[in-house]
Amino acid sequence: MTELRSCSNGLCVLSGGVGGAKLVLGLSRILNNEDFLTIVNTGDDFVHFGLKICPDIDTVIYTLAELVDQERGWGLKDESWNFLNKTKLLGGEGWFNLGDKDLATHVHRTQRLAKGDDLTSITKNLASSFGVEAHLVPMTNDPVSTVVETSEGGLAFQHYFVRDRCVPTVKGFRFEGIKSSVINPLIQEYARANDKSAVLLAPSNPFVSIDPILNVPTMTDELIGMKGPKIAISPIINSKAVKGPAAKMMQELGVPSTSIEIANHYKGLIDAIVIDHADAPLSEKIEGMGIKVFITNTVMHSLNEKITLANECLNFIEAYWKNTW
Ligand code: GDP
Repeated sequence: MTELRSCSNGLCVLSGGVGGAKLVLGLSRILNNEDFLTIVNTGDDFVHFGLKICPDIDTVIYTLAELVDQERGWGLKDESWNFLNKTKLLGGEGWFNLGDKDLATHVHRTQRLAKGDDLTSITKNLASSFGVEAHLVPMTNDPVSTVVETSEGGLAFQHYFVRDRCVPTVKGFRFEGIKSSVINPLIQEYARANDKSAVLLAPSNPFVSIDPILNVPTMTDELIGMKGPKIAISPIINSKAVKGPAAKMMQELGVPSTSIEIANHYKGLIDAIVIDHADAPLSEKIEGMGIKVFITNTVMHSLNEKITLANECLNFIEAYWKNTW
């Protein structure tokens, strides 16, 4: 049995899907649900077969429920694919992997949205039905769509990511609908009630998972207004992404795929960054940018590794409050 800890003054976590969910799972095993709020990216959301699909929200819920398919990192384990296979046989679109059990989540969400419920309450109920009581909130209730600008033109995020397997060369990103989106009121409420909260940027893709969250109007002001330390965990280890296109994107955007550049990306927002032992030689350069560096194991394969990294993050936050940074 893992020992529960508290995070005095509160904790707000920004998360995408696979990488973020791993850290949130670790945190959920050592903190009470009341002790932290997870803000989830919804820029990956899209409508497919008329269904509203929220990949990052679902990945976080399935991961916390320990029902995620471990190998893929997304979707439900012990999934079957009858719907998808039959759709392909009928000549329908088969590029987006929709499992039979997963389909129920999307149908349920779509029906409730059509009835006028907002994404926040739907997410809360969905999480609850999976036995997940951690506080997970979409960054906004409004639709936001990430568009990846590529050598082949602008691609809707899932077209770039899943259909085209991240092959096109990336030139930039756009978040459609972001300017008129309204920050989730629960985030403002949290910020008012926990003005000393710490902020963790999970090891998620900075461009397509964390940046959409940070670009929601007033979001950065709310985060900066929280007086606790702001710490990012680098998704890059030894110049490579643990999974996904983050390193490829960085290289295509003309920046080296290193934790130095991750720190640089979040400069102005973060006070510290957590990097892997493998990247220890980079720490001097990062500290030269005025960003404190913590070095630990940041690879989270097992549940134990997720809990250990979560514990380390809480130690770093505690050290900040004890003035021992
Ligand atoms: P997505 O929305 O499903 O792509 O998920 P995220 O953006 O949350 O996660 C993708 C990022 O997580 C990638 O850049 C990976 O490098 C990073 N990531 C995945 N697993 C790990 C891990 O165990 N440790 C660290 N440090 N990063 C990870």
